[in-house]
Amino acid sequence: MEKKRVLITGGAGFLGSHLCDRFLAEGYHVIAMDNLVTGDLENIQHLFGKKDFEFHHHDVSKFVFVPGKLDYILHFASPASPIDYLKIPIQTLKVGSLGTHNLLGLARVKGARMLIASTSEVYGDPEIHPQVEEYFGNVNPVGPRGCYDEAKRFQEAITMAYHNHHGLETRIVRIFNTYGPRMRLNDGRVLPAFLSQALRGENLTVFGDGSQTRSFCYVDDLIEGIYRLLLSDYHLPVNIGNPSEITIKEFGEEIARLTGVEFKPDYKPLPENDPMKRRPDISKAKEVLGWEPKVDRAEGLRRTLEYFQERVK
Ligand code: UDP
Repeated sequence: MEKKRVLITGGAGFLGSHLCDRFLAEGYHVIAMDNLVTGDLENIQHLFGKKDFEFHHHDVSKFVFVPGKLDYILHFASPASPIDYLKIPIQTLKVGSLGTHNLLGLARVKGARMLIASTSEVYGDPEIHPQVEEYFGNVNPVGPRGCYDEAKRFQEAITMAYHNHHGLETRIVRIFNTYGPRMRLNDGRVLPAFLSQALRGENLTVFGDGSQTRSFCYVDDLIEGIYRLLLSDYHLPVNIGNPSEITIKEFGEEIARLTGVEFKPDYKPLPENDPMKRRPDISKAKEVLGWEPKVDRAEGLRRTLEYFQERVK
């Protein structure tokens, strides 16, 4: 039987590269696409030379073409950390809007099913807790995070329009904070920042008083949820994340313990519009996909530490 073919945009990124691994392991032909603005070929170098893997160096904000049949498109191209999208806000808006439009068009032409990587950022600084998919969110469109949050909200809206208007098969995953090997050491997010600082013997930069919360999901769990969602018949948004919630200060203390250093915080101002709390309600993922996370933070952090130990200088 002919192999199913999947296009993964952002294929050289943190999540995209793990998706490439998973789909290859499941017997698909994988086409990874990336413009390498925040992605890194090191994440997929082990895949070059495999007969079922191709890499296309391309910016999906420009017209996208892929020869041959396509069964699935997973749109994971986007800067995703606050320092990245603050540096390149217009590219961030374009990849979520024009990029998504181009890929939806490609999906129509190919008769492919399209899954988009949305985010817990669509909830903004949430007024309800934990966040359920029905919550509309509390986003400041003109704040510093607006370029990312509104690109992702537009992405959901245009994806729903293609579903409703053109009958396109679409899936929407709302991804909560995820961590694991292949996170960029300098991407500015809290886990790479804390781990790199701890391994270098530096103080940990805690923003605000560290009482804001996040809920961290290990990457393998996230990939499993995405895989199940793609193959499900559910077209409305689904939260995928780990509901185990922790304050950023406690998280710093955990990282310090893990790396065997004393917890020494360096308090910095809280960035504008930084959400005060975040935790997914995953009832929908449980009900529709039979999914829940399996890797707890202790185990996930141990696996991630190994990756950082080999790279932090
Ligand atoms: N944060 C921090 N120190 C850092 C980086 C981030 O205290 O060096 C905080 C940040 O203010 C936020 C939380 O950690 O409250 C998570 O930030 P991250 O950038 O990882 O992701 P976000 O969930 O905000 O997109």
